Amino acid sequence: MTACLAEVYGNASSIHHFGQRAKQALETARRQVAQRLNASPREIVFVSGGTEADNLAIFGTVRAGHAITTAIEHPAVLHAFAELERRGIAVTYIKVGAGGVVDPADIRRALRPDTALISVMHANNETGTLQPIQAVAAIAREAGIPFHSDGVQAAPRLPVDVKALGVDLYCLSGHKMYAPKGIGALYVREGCALHAIAFGGHHERERRPGTENVAGAVALGVAAQAEPDDTATLRDRLEAGILTAVDGAHVNCAGSPRLPNTTNIRFDGVEGEPMVIALDLRGFAVSSGAACSSGAVEPSHVLTAISLTPSEARSSLRFSLGAATRAEDVNALIGAVQDAVEHLRRIAPRRITPRSLAHA
Ligand code: PLP
Repeated sequence: MTACLAEVYGNASSIHHFGQRAKQALETARRQVAQRLNASPREIVFVSGGTEADNLAIFGTVRAGHAITTAIEHPAVLHAFAELERRGIAVTYIKVGAGGVVDPADIRRALRPDTALISVMHANNETGTLQPIQAVAAIAREAGIPFHSDGVQAAPRLPVDVKALGVDLYCLSGHKMYAPKGIGALYVREGCALHAIAFGGHHERERRPGTENVAGAVALGVAAQAEPDDTATLRDRLEAGILTAVDGAHVNCAGSPRLPNTTNIRFDGVEGEPMVIALDLRGFAVSSGAACSSGAVEPSHVLTAISLTPSEARSSLRFSLGAATRAEDVNALIGAVQDAVEHLRRIAPRRITPRSLAHA
């Protein structure tokens, strides 16, 4: 990417040789991204990231009628569906069970004659749960409805074959797969009708106007060639270590199929936000999944969707592992979590509400 920024500064739409070098770099990147997904290069649209890819897929296919998504999508999808509702489109939000997995039969039941899109994420960003994409794709295909899947979390960690999955639209984000922020891609199956949602030049075969981010695309192309990280063993070691070292620790969605790099763990009687700070002070970056809205910490919509109480959701942390994570990091993290939980329980004991009362 840095070589490209320094040397390939032409505009990929220009006819002169500076432009043509940029065009070549862009098309090489398109082939690399397509290869990662088992797609054809013509089916890849470069965009600015996962959010734009999701928005292009959703607003580019739904004009009227009804659309289906799930209660556990990333805000890039959920807030786009909220906007569809403001524009008069009916939306069904499919619930998930305690395991965090959508039941394809619920999607089938939600179908209407005017359903214009089904959108189900491939892997959840908070719990890592994998969704039954092939089964939902089969339902969508049978009903003749386009099927979009947000693959932002799954694509970096799993082999993805869009043809085998049966999706029509699939999203990638550069910064989830060791490429920089500000680049992403949307796979659009050949033959799937997609309208542009922004208007300008003829770039990206009329689907996404604007001078292309060639250096970003080059980086995404290189990142797409890397093998997915193999972190399942370390993730299992982390979970087992924490469950042994800390009383009242529970892995959310433990029994469901999950990404190999993500785990979401709740700690009875401890708030997530102080845990994030306590672990940061000990050298570990984790996330609480809760969003701060109007000054109040809102429990995560994903964790409440899997039937956690607001208090349990606020006691949950997301840990993610990457290519650089080593066994000694995991061991040190287990010690830091044990230390932080004991410290917080000592200085700020919180009354634990039994689940039966909390749900009453
Ligand atoms: N979808 C999912 C599942 C994500 O996890 C994210 C980012 O965290 C996005 C979409 C948004 O991607 P971006 O940050 O590239 O806009």
